Amino acid sequence: MAHQCPRCGQPVQLGYSGTAQITAGLVGALFYAAFGAFQCKKCGKIPRSEFPPEVRNKMTMMSLVLVASAVAIGGVILYFLSNSK
Ligand SMILES: [Zn+2]
Repeated sequence: MAHQCPRCGQPVQLGYSGTAQITAGLVGALFYAAFGAFQCKKCGKIPRSEFPPEVRNKMTMMSLVLVASAVAIGGVILYFLSNSK
């Protein structure tokens, strides 16, 4: 899910750090990936409001998919935990 920087056109990546990902855990990392800021190597942090509307719509869709899968994974884990007792 590579997006282009609205300022210089370079590919941007999600601006989460490795330590934040580890401390937040799997679900936290998913939420961070869904709602975190983007990072351009040249321009630094890019707020979502600077991206064109159609790109933001894609990001929102991606966020919903990520959150839905996080909830689904949590539900499956809870299902197996409650069945193992
Ligand atoms: Zn840039």
